[in-house]
Amino acid sequence: MTVKSCICPYCETLVPEDTTICPGCQEDVAGLLKLAYPHVTYYDEALELAEQGELARARDSAYLSLRLRPTYRPSLMLMARLNAREGHWETARQYADMAKELEPDDPELDELRAEIDEGEKQQEAARHSEMMDDVTARRKAAERFLALHQRELAQAALYGAILGGVLVETARWLIQSWMQRKS
Ligand SMILES: [Zn+2]
Repeated sequence: MTVKSCICPYCETLVPEDTTICPGCQEDVAGLLKLAYPHVTYYDEALELAEQGELARARDSAYLSLRLRPTYRPSLMLMARLNAREGHWETARQYADMAKELEPDDPELDELRAEIDEGEKQQEAARHSEMMDDVTARRKAAERFLALHQRELAQAALYGAILGGVLVETARWLIQSWMQRKS
């Protein structure tokens, strides 16, 4: 569980951060912590789902966590990241800004905000290059078509020339034979 340190309810020893085993009496206080911090439980669940790629369900859990504790920073940040991952840039920024409002001096939150902006920029660039690829592909197809067309035109011109030549020859032959007959 991702929780701050707490006091063991059995022996009143301080249980440090990132463990649920009391160093005083070796009791596992995880169950109690879950009851005491349900928003953390939802956050942990959301994190696990996000790691499994279950983004929609992860968002549901993070949302529940924030319903219980609207100022829980890890859930706000996770919500920002989940929304960014799905391209919901505006929502992502809103969650990042909410976290920032709570802790204005935290550089991690500036990084998160920058990550979101950068992600959006990259997506825009990718979309743009896809569009360019499309234009390039169409232009290439058109050029190929044009090349084919030109070859056909050249062929037609050649046939025309040959045919023209044949006609001229025939005409000459006809005139010649007509003149021969006349003389
Ligand atoms: Zn204890």
